[in-house]
Amino acid sequence: MTDFFSPTYAEARKRFLKAAGTAVVTSYAHPLKGPDGGDLATDLVRLGPKDARRVVVVESGTHGAEGFCGSAIQLSLLHEPPALPSVTAILLVHALNPHGYAWVRRVTEDNVDLNRNFLDFSKPLPENPGYDELKDALLPKQWNEASLAAARETLEAYRAKHGERAFVTGTGGGQYKHARGMFYGGTQPTWSNLTVEKICKEHLAGVPHAALVDIHSGLGPYGYGEPLTSLDPASAEASRARAWYGEELRNTRAADSAYAGTEASIITGYTRYAPWAAWTPIGLEFGTRSREQVRGALRHEHWLHAYGDPKGPDAPAIKAALKDVFCPDEPEWKEKVIARGREIVAKALSGIEKQ
Ligand SMILES: [Zn+2]
Repeated sequence: MTDFFSPTYAEARKRFLKAAGTAVVTSYAHPLKGPDGGDLATDLVRLGPKDARRVVVVESGTHGAEGFCGSAIQLSLLHEPPALPSVTAILLVHALNPHGYAWVRRVTEDNVDLNRNFLDFSKPLPENPGYDELKDALLPKQWNEASLAAARETLEAYRAKHGERAFVTGTGGGQYKHARGMFYGGTQPTWSNLTVEKICKEHLAGVPHAALVDIHSGLGPYGYGEPLTSLDPASAEASRARAWYGEELRNTRAADSAYAGTEASIITGYTRYAPWAAWTPIGLEFGTRSREQVRGALRHEHWLHAYGDPKGPDAPAIKAALKDVFCPDEPEWKEKVIARGREIVAKALSGIEKQ
């Protein structure tokens, strides 16, 4: 089997553009550079007719380094394109957050969790008192055994007192107060957010039916891709998604959800920027390592940028650990991801065909 997984953003981008062949490519250049001094961009390739009335958007790298996984699925789709129903196109959006992808970070260049950034910033910003209380435990200024043991105690005490749902929201639900902190949603639309607006205007104008498969990794069972929505279960979008993806679809805002659901996700972004389309948007989340391992790697890497030295001697190992929890370098995992990614895209195509 071809290995569609690339070791760096630069390599992934090169392979994606090459595999596009004669297809039309649109590149949105990012103003900053990658760690190798190379260019950064969000690249789009469209498969299918230009005037398609139904478009399935398949996107990678919303959470930067989670793009290793999504990029591989996109490359597989370019190498072996699925059969398209009539008047239907696939729009591959490669590396929506290219800065985070290239620097092996989940966040954007301005430390923003893009899936917390699609807010109406003219309104008061949401509060997250749980995060306010736990911020120093999540991100201790010193990273050593003693500080981590104290942090663990604080986190577990909070969980015991307030319950799992409050713990998930406090530790991952997004916050708008601490600009160096974790899961920071920002105070304005980031570059990647504004890029979504351009994509909608320039590539989805007037399209009556649109679907989104926004690919993530780092949560859930090993190699399994879970379809997710953050929309109101009573909405038309969520009920269409249930019809297409069945029982496996999870709502991140449900009371028993292990995910920190937020209304400020990219799903909200696409539906708001292209309100003329009837949307069926989902996130697709691939499990990798245990929750504890993923959380530990994320906190350590975030600490490196907030209080440590991202160019110091410890940095490569910390980055490698983060990459491992987003994209294990194991053939079994990779095979599952490609097969499942293609299966979900096939479901999106057969769902949208009935629209
Ligand atoms: Zn993610």
